[in-house]
Amino acid sequence: MSKSTIDHTPASALGLSSVLAVIAHPDDESFGLGAVISTLIESGVRVNVLCYTRGAASTLRGTSDDLATERTSELADAAKVLGIDHVELLDYPDGALGSLAHDELVEHARTTALTVSADVLLVFDEGGVTGHPDHVAATSAGVTAATALGLGALAWCLPVEVADTLRGQYGAAFVGRPPELLDVRLTVDRSLQRQAAACHPSQAVPDSPLWRRLELLGDDEWLRWLRRPDY
Ligand SMILES: [Zn+2]
Repeated sequence: MSKSTIDHTPASALGLSSVLAVIAHPDDESFGLGAVISTLIESGVRVNVLCYTRGAASTLRGTSDDLATERTSELADAAKVLGIDHVELLDYPDGALGSLAHDELVEHARTTALTVSADVLLVFDEGGVTGHPDHVAATSAGVTAATALGLGALAWCLPVEVADTLRGQYGAAFVGRPPELLDVRLTVDRSLQRQAAACHPSQAVPDSPLWRRLELLGDDEWLRWLRRPDY
């Protein structure tokens, strides 16, 4: 089965009303989830974001005196562009989420999901998509919280051929999924994602694999259920 045989799913058919995106870094909401989030919002879904770190460990633009402050403000700008209701930004150490107590991260996701009456938690795919251990930890916390609440956990994924191409070109540990593991094919318009990405000048460097990924994905985004909702 090729991925093109999977039907497009209208965002409205997912039956969502409130989604909590659980992410590790400022820019994950745009570079990774941006087109999914803007498409959901356009279909009438409310989207909130829980972000565990302020991204202070990035060295993409060299070192900055106060990168955390800069990235906090970039995240706020991007959230406005995408139409996100509210961003709950925590201050855990960038690059070290995997070594923190899992239960503590879960508790933040659980309480925020309750506060925003989420029906689904949106996360990066298991493996973190780019292989970043912070992404893996954020996803794991989101899935455990969804399980505790009986909610769905929907993962943003790369098709295996896209991940293979990116891995070949950039050497990063991109993780992709075969067609049989992809549950949802969402047709997206990337304009707001590109505008939101531009709100992150500290990270949106010209040679980032991001641009090649957007080109390879075209108008499609792929999701899979890590946990289907109880209802
Ligand atoms: Zn990230």
